[in-house]
Amino acid sequence: MTRQDTGRRAAGPSQTATTAAGESKGAAHAGTAAVADRGARAGISAGDDAAHLGTGAVAGAGIGGALRLAHRIEVDAASGLARGLRQVLSPHWDARPSGQSPELVVVHGISLPPGRYGGPWIDQLFCGNLPPAADPYFAQVVGLRVSAHALVRRDGRIVQYVPFHRRAWHAGASSWCGRSACNDFSIGIELEGADTDPYEDAQYESLAALLHGLLDAYPTLAPDRLVGHDEIAPGRKTDPGVSFDWPRLRRLVAHRPTGTTQKT
Ligand SMILES: [Zn+2]
Repeated sequence: MTRQDTGRRAAGPSQTATTAAGESKGAAHAGTAAVADRGARAGISAGDDAAHLGTGAVAGAGIGGALRLAHRIEVDAASGLARGLRQVLSPHWDARPSGQSPELVVVHGISLPPGRYGGPWIDQLFCGNLPPAADPYFAQVVGLRVSAHALVRRDGRIVQYVPFHRRAWHAGASSWCGRSACNDFSIGIELEGADTDPYEDAQYESLAALLHGLLDAYPTLAPDRLVGHDEIAPGRKTDPGVSFDWPRLRRLVAHRPTGTTQKT
């Protein structure tokens, strides 16, 4: 994460609220569009991991990388929200270019501070309220207006920050197949991790489940339209890093659950 990732410094959309959607009440559930459209609740509850996808939700039986994804994630294309995920909505997004649908998924790696896991810091960075005094490193990134659509934490729990049909500010200067400004047409998914630290089984499983949901929701995506940040910003970015097992992810993505609803 560097300053070059900053997508826009102009004021974001009217949505300013951030919230943690509690499953227990269903008040801010994905799919209802209530959170994204009204953004009525303030304050994040980062670190409140009680109610979201993850613990027990993704029950992959990993044998040689052959995983059975017991969990499906449903993405509502209209609202851009994934049902059942914890949502901490960031103000750091804007509209995609007119008529532009997501065509690419960019996989990132992030840890704050670098190499350390846990804590509310990633949520707070993406929401623009990272406390600079909490760690010496934070002075380098505080004030950045950056975001990703979602984060997969080390234990597989997923947090959504930006509706998938909106433009998050994750890629920075970038190019894919001759097309620049990848934020315009991509979905950015962060994995909590570091370039040389193996990612967790639960992260692959959750990422694949989310990708299946996205593939169902957005026909403009495709299983082979999946890249690392390093691929679209070579020489500038290295994440998700050498530790990321691309063949494993691609195997998982190829095993799309049967009975998946295809939207037309
Ligand atoms: Zn990145």
